[in-house]
Amino acid sequence: MTQVKNTFQFEDMLKKHHLKKTAPRLRVLSMMYSKTTATSQPDLENVMHDIDRVTLYRILNIFEEKGIIHKVFDLNGTANYAVCSSGCQENHHHDEHLHFNCTRCKNVYCINDLYLPGLTLPEGFKAESFTLYANGICPKCEKKPHH
Ligand SMILES: [Zn+2]
Ligand SMILES: [Zn+2]
Ligand SMILES: [Zn+2]
Repeated sequence: MTQVKNTFQFEDMLKKHHLKKTAPRLRVLSMMYSKTTATSQPDLENVMHDIDRVTLYRILNIFEEKGIIHKVFDLNGTANYAVCSSGCQENHHHDEHLHFNCTRCKNVYCINDLYLPGLTLPEGFKAESFTLYANGICPKCEKKPHH
């Protein structure tokens, strides 16, 4: 999911979604695209001290609404945001990939390179989306010596 993009591409993305080009929006995009893991609002607040919480909150909300980012939960139940797959559209997400919660570093990963078989639900249930989670140790933590 690491798709490295430059400022011009981020500006294009905002334009495509009919969002005004603002410095905070561009910074949030570039930070989220530079990471291989999902980002929580507190993570963003830590890095971007000069942007106030309300602005950050609004940016995350509008990006989610536009199909640019999707919400995932970490092991503490905190909402994190990750970059969407190309199939996502405004108010219509297609992020039915596995979300991997690392029990050591607490990072959340979107696992796109995994074939998920279709799930058959009991009669009468009609799913609009799936959210799949796995817990365990990520490759980064696997390499680190145990404490
Ligand atoms: Zn999405
Ligand atoms: Zn880890
Ligand atoms: Zn995801």
